[in-house]
Amino acid sequence: MSSSSASTRPHPSEATPTERAARLWQWDVAHLWHGFTQMRQYADQEPLIIERAEGCWLIDVHHRRLLDGVASMWCNVHGHRRAEIDEAIRAQLDHVAHSTLLGAANVPAIELARRLVQLAEPLSVDGPRLSHVYFSSDGSSAVEVALKMAFQYWQQRPERQGGPRPGKTKFLALADAYHGDTLGSVSVGGVAAFHEMFHPLLFPSLRAPQPHCYRCPLGLQRSACRIDCLAALEAVLAEHHAEIAAVILEPLVQGAAGMIVAPEGYLRGVRQATRRYDVLLIADEVAVGMGRTGRMFASEHEQVAPDLLCLGKGLTGGYLPLAATLAHDLIYEAFLGSAAEGRTFFHGHTYGGNPLAAAAALATLDIFEREKTLEKIQPLIEQLGQGLRLFAEQPHVGHVRQCGLLAGIELVRDRRTGQRFDAAEAVGTRVCRRARELGVLIRPLGDVIVLMPPLAISAEELDLLCRVVQRSIADVTDPPAS
Ligand SMILES: *Cc1c(COP(=O)(O)O)cnc(C)c1O
Repeated sequence: MSSSSASTRPHPSEATPTERAARLWQWDVAHLWHGFTQMRQYADQEPLIIERAEGCWLIDVHHRRLLDGVASMWCNVHGHRRAEIDEAIRAQLDHVAHSTLLGAANVPAIELARRLVQLAEPLSVDGPRLSHVYFSSDGSSAVEVALKMAFQYWQQRPERQGGPRPGKTKFLALADAYHGDTLGSVSVGGVAAFHEMFHPLLFPSLRAPQPHCYRCPLGLQRSACRIDCLAALEAVLAEHHAEIAAVILEPLVQGAAGMIVAPEGYLRGVRQATRRYDVLLIADEVAVGMGRTGRMFASEHEQVAPDLLCLGKGLTGGYLPLAATLAHDLIYEAFLGSAAEGRTFFHGHTYGGNPLAAAAALATLDIFEREKTLEKIQPLIEQLGQGLRLFAEQPHVGHVRQCGLLAGIELVRDRRTGQRFDAAEAVGTRVCRRARELGVLIRPLGDVIVLMPPLAISAEELDLLCRVVQRSIADVTDPPAS
């Protein structure tokens, strides 16, 4: 390298650690545009710049260690730098890094498709099996694929299944749902703060009230209700089923909507209603799948077989971008025909089924099997429940919600009435900032503090996570009088 190019493009390694961190900060602010981030605000404070990680710990450029309390955006499963996953990717690199799934296959993608179908078998005891896997690269795409498959299915349903139903072109989703950030997934989403701006670009969706027992949209108390939100969803189906292709929802927990845990029986009820009205069910398990709820898939808790199942986030253990849409035999069958018939699914992502990502996913599933991860986390789920009980006694904790190894702690100004803090106070953000000072990385959803550690978290680390978050909430919402 010539000295002139070195001076115009200095490499950050040619500096003391402090200089290097300062330079990276400068370049970060100058060139890197971060998702879901107000960049003006971001530029004001030294950012967290991760250099490496091990287990459940992230290590930044100042060698500071932070406990990864949100599993690097809900996707890390067995910890960072898992030797088996690292090794699987390296071994795959010696074969091929990428080749396309459009009209051709690769070895790990085939093996992974088969493994996922086997894993999904317990879901389909009373219906067609989810035996076909469509790969893409992120959760939003897995949702897009499911929406387009459901739509096209009804356009060309074979005669032996009852023939086409071209009027079924709409989707029924939950109010405040989150299914990703591409325009199709935003169209079935409903988080006003994220989605309102794009409203003119979206296709219209039908809505059902959220199963949200703390802030019941029907104004009921869980102790007295009969899951009336389910009846409300059924009423929409009763009126509009002839135009509805599918219901889409997150089984058990509406994640980005605020970690809202549905009452037991809700999911099963939705499945029964969609069957009754001849509407497909799309289960978006991008967040809740891959062991997060204590079972491999959240739908297992209520013995529900969706027609289409979306996976992402934890599918590669949090290593590489890979997502999957599983479809059952009857849907798949509707897409079969001669090339001239036009039944083909005209959709494909360049890196879908990438061999490195598929190898990481296979290694991730191997660890689930070998280490019996789902059994191992049961005591941790119990421990998290115990830890959360302490939160419930804090003066500004309105509601605590848990499902498996995920939790949402909703902070409120007044816990008697559930009155929220003003958004401008940014209480959730401040609590997470405080936690970071205390060595724990978490991210809020508004004023809901999210705990979503890797499934590999140890009992000691989980205890630390709970204690630090509890203290951070106290420091921000209930500071000692001076
Ligand atoms: C994260 C998420 C998505 C989007 O996944 P990306 O990989 O970010 O595109 C979709 N649905 C749910 C439920 C999610 O939590």
